[in-house]
Amino acid sequence: MYQKIKGTYDLLPNDTKKWQSLEKTIRSVSKIYNYEEIRTPIFENTELFHRSVGEETDIVSKETYDFIDRGKRHITLRPEGTAPVARSYIENKLYADKLPVKKLYYMGPMFRYERPQKGRYRQFAQFGAEAFGSTSPLLDAEIISYAVSVIKALKIKDVEVHVNSIGDQESKVMYKEALIAYLEKDVQTLCSDCQKRFETNPLRILDCKVDKDTELLKNAPKPLDYLNEESKTHFNKLLAYLDAMEIKYVIDRNLVRGLDYYTHTVFEVNANLETLGAQNTICGGGRYNHLVSSLGGPDIPGVGFAFGLERLMFALESVNFKGTPDYLHLYLMILGEEQKEDGIRLLNRCRIGGLFSDIDFLDKNLKAQFKLADNMNARFIAIYGANEKAKGEINVKDKDTGKEITIKSSQLYNHIITELMNPNHSCETCEEDSCDDCE
Ligand code: AMP
Repeated sequence: MYQKIKGTYDLLPNDTKKWQSLEKTIRSVSKIYNYEEIRTPIFENTELFHRSVGEETDIVSKETYDFIDRGKRHITLRPEGTAPVARSYIENKLYADKLPVKKLYYMGPMFRYERPQKGRYRQFAQFGAEAFGSTSPLLDAEIISYAVSVIKALKIKDVEVHVNSIGDQESKVMYKEALIAYLEKDVQTLCSDCQKRFETNPLRILDCKVDKDTELLKNAPKPLDYLNEESKTHFNKLLAYLDAMEIKYVIDRNLVRGLDYYTHTVFEVNANLETLGAQNTICGGGRYNHLVSSLGGPDIPGVGFAFGLERLMFALESVNFKGTPDYLHLYLMILGEEQKEDGIRLLNRCRIGGLFSDIDFLDKNLKAQFKLADNMNARFIAIYGANEKAKGEINVKDKDTGKEITIKSSQLYNHIITELMNPNHSCETCEEDSCDDCE
């Protein structure tokens, strides 16, 4: 028997219902913020990630799924979405679009060869957003507000927004020098990864999971203390805009985030929920002013975020999220082979009219079909047997009201629609994700 690959998972129908609801909420919040969806390929040239995410990052140096295709090209399964979206933005010249600030979002699978555990997978899904074309801190604030609104729309509580600034290139260089000078004599005490990072990418030492809580790192210089005037102004304005948007945040002076392309704002959203386990960062993002130009595009800045959808699903367990209710409007019982053609004509008419409808395919008896209708959570059960066919009628039972009547079979669709529109009814037909009446 074959088994799924380590670090992957199947989403079975009970799960996909919840995922669809999650995706629906994400799409509606994206519409509210006027972000448009973009879909890029799952694999890209390996070089793209080396140039953008950075050679020395864990993602690129240890975690990518790389292969050489039959045309001898170096290919990588995308480990994140920003670089592919930036590549597409440049290649499709979206910067020449009539909207000078291009606001995009994406959802889809990413691949990282990480040690699997709860909330950490080798194939996982991200929802991310990227906004290109403005250096204004207002766009940073909007991106954070968009992320927070998704969390609010999902009714997830106990989240903390952590923000920091690593400054522009000049500030980053100044900070890097200070950090190197500070760590130089104690490099040997750092973990082996950080000893390498000291040579290649010292900034990353600050958010090393192993060394983070050591006295050495706690007392290390912080990026905020090395911001030049322009970077300080950017950060202060961001905080003022967040205040104006009534978004609560904490300034996290240690936050640098793992990827090379960030400048100025970096942020993360952590959820302090038992259902999440150790992997409690549900969203991370930041500004990247030079990513587009470093990939050969024009000098256009950007800012974005990415959520891990599995972690959002775990967070949703804490609010007892059920997803779209599972129901049918109509279960049609066709009794007897001779009734099948007329019966499926009725079924077809109901489906064309948009009623969620189903029938039996195994010639089950009446009792078994009632059970099936129950399992499918059908509101209306219609019985169409030889008697009904002879009289041009059909028997319809409303499971919600208990009402049972016999009507002209040609009226089946109209009858159900009329009953569904009855304002006294609620739950299964109201199509709300969480209807007070049906809870
Ligand atoms: P990053 O691209 O590393 O900033 O990650 C953004 C978000 O994606 C994180 O905050 C997580 O929610 C999620 N994420 C990253 N790596 C994984 C993984 N291996 N498995 C599941 N979720 C992940």
